[in-house]
Amino acid sequence: MAAKSGKTFDNIAPRDGTLINRIAAFGAGDVDRAVRSGRAAFEDGRWRFKAPKEKKKILHRLADLMTEHAENLALLEVLDTGKPIRDARAVDIPLAIQSARYYAEALDKIYGEVGPSPESRFSYAVHEPLGIIGAIVPWNFPLHMAMWKVAPALAMGNSVVLKPAENSSLTALYTAALAVEAGVPAGVFNVVTGLGTEAGDALARNMDVDMIAFTGSGPVGRMLMRASADSNLKRVSLELGGKSPQIVFADAPDLEAAAQNAAWGVFYNQGQVCTAASRLFVEESIRDDFVNRVIEIAKGIKVGDPYDPETQFGAMISEKQMQTALSYIEKGQVDGARLRLGGGRARAESGGFYVEPSLLDNIAPDNILAREEVFGPVLSVLTFKDEAEAFRLANDTVYGLAAGAWTSDLNRAMRAAKTLRAGLVWINGWDSCDITLPFGGFKQSGFGRDRSLHAMYKYADMKSVSISFQP
Ligand code: NAD
Repeated sequence: MAAKSGKTFDNIAPRDGTLINRIAAFGAGDVDRAVRSGRAAFEDGRWRFKAPKEKKKILHRLADLMTEHAENLALLEVLDTGKPIRDARAVDIPLAIQSARYYAEALDKIYGEVGPSPESRFSYAVHEPLGIIGAIVPWNFPLHMAMWKVAPALAMGNSVVLKPAENSSLTALYTAALAVEAGVPAGVFNVVTGLGTEAGDALARNMDVDMIAFTGSGPVGRMLMRASADSNLKRVSLELGGKSPQIVFADAPDLEAAAQNAAWGVFYNQGQVCTAASRLFVEESIRDDFVNRVIEIAKGIKVGDPYDPETQFGAMISEKQMQTALSYIEKGQVDGARLRLGGGRARAESGGFYVEPSLLDNIAPDNILAREEVFGPVLSVLTFKDEAEAFRLANDTVYGLAAGAWTSDLNRAMRAAKTLRAGLVWINGWDSCDITLPFGGFKQSGFGRDRSLHAMYKYADMKSVSISFQP
């Protein structure tokens, strides 16, 4: 659909820097139209009052259609983001489908509570949908992140207005069309494309949106809270970034597995992962051997054309993001870091936005590479002498999204799980949990949880009802 103003923006392919298409740049009027259509659907109950088994059937049908169209969705995700097709096929699209299925299954298993009541009263509490959910999502896992929000919000009976990132609108639009085919009633699932500062800002300030569910950067998260305060006090949930520590003790049960996770923990998706293990803490006694192992693994990563099924490492999302990563590598060296691997642009002849997997050591705790999120393929190596120092340095960050430790000592593992201040803690693994567990951050990594049943409750309010009667 075109914007009322006729405005568009260019959608560039990170793979080779060419123009894919021009996408409608919605403004406040367009966003308001989408919100009004969501509100009309909510008020007449065409979705929220549908029998749970009907809603469930429709969301399963959406998952079926996404499965049928999985290859197209994967190809579009690669076109928009430059990520390797093997990842889009094996991870992005299957996990987006998994969200639709999980919440389809969950939606008829949400119960209220019966309260203790005197003889002349019956009291209960129920979960009711909030109304209109504005979902604002990033470009690193476009459909996957969108479905973490859209699926539980719909399952709870809300209407949704989804604002994809301007770099990655294609799979959101495709999936909205599949939702219509699946039987999601008109007005219930809307997509507004456009710039963050226009369409995103309009959604955040809209007086009829009940909640903004956001994944993205810290600065935009802060703006969304201000926009809520300045408009209708809509709820806000924020999944922001991180500077996640992975600690490798000399007693790790399997140093090769730890080295694989140290490398892939930060190089997966070209480092554009909010839980990227961008700070690696290695116990001093094993430093040289361990860092060499990580370097050998990283050297073996196949950087290439994202459409080649053999490619393990593709392009970054944009020229700007590529330049940001390269400038962090430079600034880190000015602060005293030593470049051990990569550090430059790759595949420049393609016209695309590729950065080599990069590793720097000799990083002091106050180096910019130990403090700021790069959101690129840059691993910072730090060392520690003992457990207390490792935990102290790991927690020395404003972020708290993920953290991990490798050790064979059960007592130390338990201490790590308790001491590390992060919403996700992984022992002897990285990113080793799934949709069944809540996902979200401590501290400036945000608040509110995606995944699990907690995500459904996030999109609901509790209503307490008391009915008085003649006993
Ligand atoms: P971003 O915050 O710039 O953009 C995210 C979304 O917000 C996009 O849809 C964008 O259009 C929109 N937006 C931008 N400005 C806006 C405004 N003024 N008002 C309303 N919406 C606006 O982030 P990005 O560059 O797309 O993504 C990278 C960041 O996201 C990183 O910092 C990363 O850590 C974070 N991230 C976090 C998670 C998580 O789960 N915690 C997941 C992925 C990415």
